[in-house]
Amino acid sequence: MLDFDLAQLKKMKMVLQNSFPAFRALWSGFLHLIYPELCVACGADIPAGDACFCFRCQLKISVSDMHLVRENEFTDRLWGRLQLESGAAMYYFTRKSPVQQALHQLKYHNKPEIGVKIGRAFGRKLKASDVFRPVEAIVPVPLHPKKERLRGYNQSAQFAQGISEVMDIPVLRNALVRRAFTATQTKKKRMERFENVDDVFVVEKPTLLQGKHLLLVDDVLTTGATLETCGHALLGIAGTRLSVATIAIAVN
Ligand SMILES: [Zn+2]
Repeated sequence: MLDFDLAQLKKMKMVLQNSFPAFRALWSGFLHLIYPELCVACGADIPAGDACFCFRCQLKISVSDMHLVRENEFTDRLWGRLQLESGAAMYYFTRKSPVQQALHQLKYHNKPEIGVKIGRAFGRKLKASDVFRPVEAIVPVPLHPKKERLRGYNQSAQFAQGISEVMDIPVLRNALVRRAFTATQTKKKRMERFENVDDVFVVEKPTLLQGKHLLLVDDVLTTGATLETCGHALLGIAGTRLSVATIAIAVN
């Protein structure tokens, strides 16, 4: 019965849309009321669709095309430190830019949906890229469990979720876990740590990852220390290949 009603409604909508062009605008306005779309940076209303930023913010951001080429600024930054198949960020991150605002909203203002939305947008680009299409599963950089409990979500896992929906590949959420560094760990591990990475990353489910081309994702690439540490943990599993994607790359 419900199917019949829905089919009738759809048919009516099509007829109306074709007969009255104004109906099309009304319809999208109606959808906008039900599913409001907001700019991920400033929160302004934006027309329903795929855009993440409002028009004003779009004028102030730099979108990157680095996902189309194998060697780029992103892979250069990790060159010699991490064996990568491919690497790319969606945006350039500069201070006070809408991209910084969006990341701030995502991390500190309880807006996990921003990560999913940007993830879907980047997923569409990655899916159309010969360089990224071969990835088979996504691994988000984990947050320390205590931090994730406080925040309520892991922003990188939200970003991963959006990419996953569009590329139709799974997110392996608990494959990699983050633990606080403790004195019981070996001296060698301490030596291997980098600048601001005080935690260690442990692969919990290596069989899930074995032999796969993995896409490691994080919110922003700065020095790359965290991605490097996570990447080494993943590449330690037999047969894995590694690509990396972030929402933004920090530039001076
Ligand atoms: Zn905006």
